[in-house]
Parts: sequence; C-alpha cells; structure tokens
Amino acid sequence: MNQVIEKAYAKINVGLHITGRRDDGYHLLSMVMQTVSLYDRIGIYRTNEDDEISMDMDYGGSHPEEDMTCGDDNLCVKAARLICSRLPESHGYYIHLVKNIPVAAGMAGGSSDAAAVLRGINALEGDYFSKNELCDMALTLGADVPYCIDGGLCLCEGIGEKLTPVNADWNAHILLAKPPEGVSTPSAYKWSDEHPNPLHGDISAVIDAIKKNDNEKIGKNIHNDLENAAKHFVPEISRIEDVMDENNAVFSRVTGSGPTVFGIFDSEDDRSRAAAALRKSELCADIFSVEAVRPDYTAERE
Ligand code: ATP
Repeated sequence: MNQVIEKAYAKINVGLHITGRRDDGYHLLSMVMQTVSLYDRIGIYRTNEDDEISMDMDYGGSHPEEDMTCGDDNLCVKAARLICSRLPESHGYYIHLVKNIPVAAGMAGGSSDAAAVLRGINALEGDYFSKNELCDMALTLGADVPYCIDGGLCLCEGIGEKLTPVNADWNAHILLAKPPEGVSTPSAYKWSDEHPNPLHGDISAVIDAIKKNDNEKIGKNIHNDLENAAKHFVPEISRIEDVMDENNAVFSRVTGSGPTVFGIFDSEDDRSRAAAALRKSELCADIFSVEAVRPDYTAERE
C-alpha cells in the first residue's frame, strides 16, 4: 500500500471547564468533545524521495485563510516530519489536503488534520506505532491532537491527554455558524484568566444527558469558560445565538475559544429555518448543518 485518503473530522466542545493551571502555564481542562460530520480530506502518498515531505492544499467548503501555508508551519507537515523522524527507515511523503473545516474556528481543524496524517502514515508503515505511541506523538503537536486520533464522544482532561471515551450516539441536529472575525486562542485564555466566570456547569450531568439524548438537560448543564472571552472579541456571537434561539434551538453555545457557535435542534425543519435566517442576517462567513458521528477511521480509510 503506497497511498491512503484519510478523513479528518471537526469537533465541537459540549462544555469546556478550566480547572487549573500548570507551573509551565498550560491550562488544565475538563472538556466534553464530540466529533461532527464535517471533515477535511487528506491524501497521503509515499514517494521515492527519501525524507522529503511536501504538501499542497485546495479549499473545499470553507473560506481561504491567508495566514495558512503549505510550508513547515502546516500541522500536516509537522505531523509527517514527526512520525517519519521516529521510523527506522525513512520515506518521503506528499500530502494533499482538501480543507472544508474553517481555520481557527474552535473546531480543531488543524489538530484533526495532524491526527489524520499520523494515522495515515502509520497505516502505510504497517501500523509500526501503537495507539498509545501515536497519542504521545500527537500531544507534542497540540493539546487537541490526541483526542482527534480516535474522536467520537469523549471526556478530555489534563491538558488534553487524559481521554475517557463515552459509549453513546448523540442524536442531535447541529447547526454550525462561524462569524467572519476570528478569535486568537491565547487571547481568549488570557482574557478569561483576567475575568474569571463565577458560573459553572456540570460535566457529569452533560455526559449523562447525552447518553439519554436529553438535549434540554444538556442545555441546562453545559458551560464554556472561554465563551465570555469569545463574545468580548466577537460581539456577533451573541447575535448568532439569538437568531438560533428565535428559531427554536434547544440551546446554542460557542465551541472551544470560538468564534463558531453551534445550535442544537430537535427538528430538522427548525434547523433549516435557523440556517436560512442566519444566511439572511449576513452575520456568518460559514454555515454547516451536521450530525454527531462516531468515526471508524480504519473502516473509512480509502
Ligand atoms: P482548536 O479548536 O483545537 O483550538 P481551532 O479550530 O481554533 O483549533 P485550527 O483550525 O486548528 O484552530 O487552527 C489553529 C492554527 O493552526 C491556525 O492559526 C492555522 O494557521 C494553523 N494551522 C496549521 N496547519 C493547519 C491546518 N492543516 N489546518 C488548520 N489550521 C492549521
């Protein structure tokens, strides 16, 4: 086998609690992550050029991001270099990314791409590394990358490395709406450190409610410690939530450090109406209707 096509799914945070801070400055977190059915496609091709990693990229369903290049900074290239540096025999790889997940949107697009490259190259190398070894490598690339190796519904703790998968299939109609303006993740953490939020949610109650498909109960218990920071930097977020709520969203929240808002709807018609209202409002750069998914990356590999 000399080539694979991997899917790299986006995630939403169904709650994000900052629980502390390590001496090295990293925030300790408790987050419920859920994979959703929006994905980048990553072709990974073994070449005859030893050690050479190259990539190019097309934009599919999202808007081009000027800051993102196909050079050494791209998480696909970083992931490929990392895994290749640990293999006993080096190969060259060419990566072709089709970017559908908006960049810097709170949906872990870059982290998911990095995880997909680790998975794909490992498969092409005869599963040389174990899942634990892949997760260790993943953590050096970013806090969300270990979760993205398997995805699904998961409680993520520590700085993102303590993963507790949850065996549940959440049956929700989800609307993702991203305003044009971005939020820098470090700035969101800094702002929320300076403005601690006295309100808290209940992560265990959220997980229990997802297992029971009780969206009302999820809405009552969900909390994101970065939400106020995201709203401070991008005031349109509150207006997007209002439009979702006016169209019968059970609840709407920011994912990660934003600026993407996700709304949960019990009916597909309400979700369609909310999407139409948001398109008319011109508050959003990207709008996607998605479902919660439990990926099976090995079976889905092409
Ligand atoms: P998270 O939800 O994990 O905080 P995010 O969705 O906010 O992540 P990403 O889309 O992962 O953010 O991008 C974060 C940064 O990583 C951007 O500044 C982007 O330029 C850089 N980046 C590098 N490679 C990629 C990639 N393949 N896809 C997206 N972003 C990338």
